[in-house]
Amino acid sequence: MLYKSLKNNKYIASFKEAVLFGQSPDKGLYFPEKIPLLENKFFKNISNFEVNDLMMEVIKPFIGDEIPYKELLNIISNTVNFKINLKKIYENFFSLELFLGPTMAFKDIGVKFLSGCIKYLCKQIKKNIIILTATSGDTGAAVANAFNKIDGVKVVILYPSSKISFLQEKQITTLGDNILALEIKGNFDDCQLLAKKAFYDEQIRKKLFLTSANSINIARLLSQIFYYFLCYKLLFKKNNEKIIFSIPSGNFGNLCAGLIAFKMGLPVKHFIAATNINDTVPRLLKSEIYNPYPTKETISNAMDIADPNNFSRIMYMFKHVKNIKKIFSAYSFSDQETINIIKFIWEKYKYMMDPHGAIGYLGLKKFYYDKKNFNYKNIFLATASPVKFLDKINKKLSDQILLNEKVKKLLKKTKKSIKLSNSYENFKNWLLTSNF
Ligand SMILES: *Cc1c(COP(=O)(O)O)cnc(C)c1O
Repeated sequence: MLYKSLKNNKYIASFKEAVLFGQSPDKGLYFPEKIPLLENKFFKNISNFEVNDLMMEVIKPFIGDEIPYKELLNIISNTVNFKINLKKIYENFFSLELFLGPTMAFKDIGVKFLSGCIKYLCKQIKKNIIILTATSGDTGAAVANAFNKIDGVKVVILYPSSKISFLQEKQITTLGDNILALEIKGNFDDCQLLAKKAFYDEQIRKKLFLTSANSINIARLLSQIFYYFLCYKLLFKKNNEKIIFSIPSGNFGNLCAGLIAFKMGLPVKHFIAATNINDTVPRLLKSEIYNPYPTKETISNAMDIADPNNFSRIMYMFKHVKNIKKIFSAYSFSDQETINIIKFIWEKYKYMMDPHGAIGYLGLKKFYYDKKNFNYKNIFLATASPVKFLDKINKKLSDQILLNEKVKKLLKKTKKSIKLSNSYENFKNWLLTSNF
């Protein structure tokens, strides 16, 4: 499979190049030249597939023989070596729990797959790689975990000081070894801007081989497609009924993966993009104007993004807002609505949602009543464990959440970070001179 730049079609890359470079030379995102359609046979057999086989079937057409079968199987089995649950909340409402991996957010899946690919490709090109990544919390944690102690790889994580949860910060700043945490005085957009500038800085590129682990990286996106199929398998087995998916969205990578699954043949009735008050996409669907406002802070901090990275991929797939509206709706919700629904669902069904998953649930519920679509299965993607956001919800609620030994241990570890201002010159200077 070849990947083309969405800015200029003359830039074509192999899977390997798309993964290692992240973006094309014209700063475009890579997208597969065509989306493979899965055969009927696949859907007929889906109930027999184990998780790893299912992921293999879904992702193999995108990779071809650029990674040998055995190697790919190895990468896949290291990616999803934890459970993915489909939990019934009540009646037709379900939570697809994607947060049971090592850093307790769904990003473990995309990032672990990416780290597997990079580990393999890195050996081939015989170069040392620096993973430079900006994070609003969960990416950094997943990246630190997945790339820790990989030979030939160093990791620099930029995170906004005091804007991420206490547990997220511990996950990023306590591993050491090849993981370096830069604590930036500023917000997530500042961090993202510093990283973006560095990627296209000739002086830096001459000296260092930089790669991004953000969701612009095609390996992350592709590895997220399979769980939409897995959900279908867990729900229906033989039945061919359609599903409604609600996806709590920030950079829109997760939704983009779902839409690719749909184009591959997954029977989906409708998607819902649920956001917090950073509502660029819900406003776009109303007004047909893409007009990001400055980013606002919320308790669902992994979605505090005003200008979603992956949206250009979605626009490319559907060409026009009118077509987009046929396949997904978008709604935004406030912190107060988020807290209220967490409390309500806990009290009524004894199910604890994190603020991101809660927004997914709110989106599902709104669509359900707006469209009176009562005959479908309604799934929201539970993207993080509530444990990660204890300090973002009120104490009465957070006291209901039990901490396991692993978390207790982590909370006791000492944080190690390097504090920098949000000035690019400072950051560049640090990158070029510190021999980390
Ligand atoms: C990153 C993240 C999201 C948003 O996912 P996108 O693919 O960026 O839209 C939602 N929830 C949690 C917990 C996250 O970490």
